[in-house]
Amino acid sequence: MGYVFMTSACVGCGQLFNYNPMRVPSIRVNGSREPVCQICVERANPIRLANGLEPIVPYADAYEACDEAELPAD
Ligand SMILES: [Zn+2]
Repeated sequence: MGYVFMTSACVGCGQLFNYNPMRVPSIRVNGSREPVCQICVERANPIRLANGLEPIVPYADAYEACDEAELPAD
């Protein structure tokens, strides 16, 4: 049993960040899911609210390690 962090660049700001690949908020870019960092979520929420959209509420463990048992078998 182990734990997994994903690390990649945020699609919003380009900063590398760690996240749980099963929980991180993401947006679709050209058909693939791209992860969004916590800073960008916090930056986007006031804009979403101003535009009548629901705020993004990440899972509590979105930026924590993922139990490897939760990863899809592949
Ligand atoms: Zn970002």
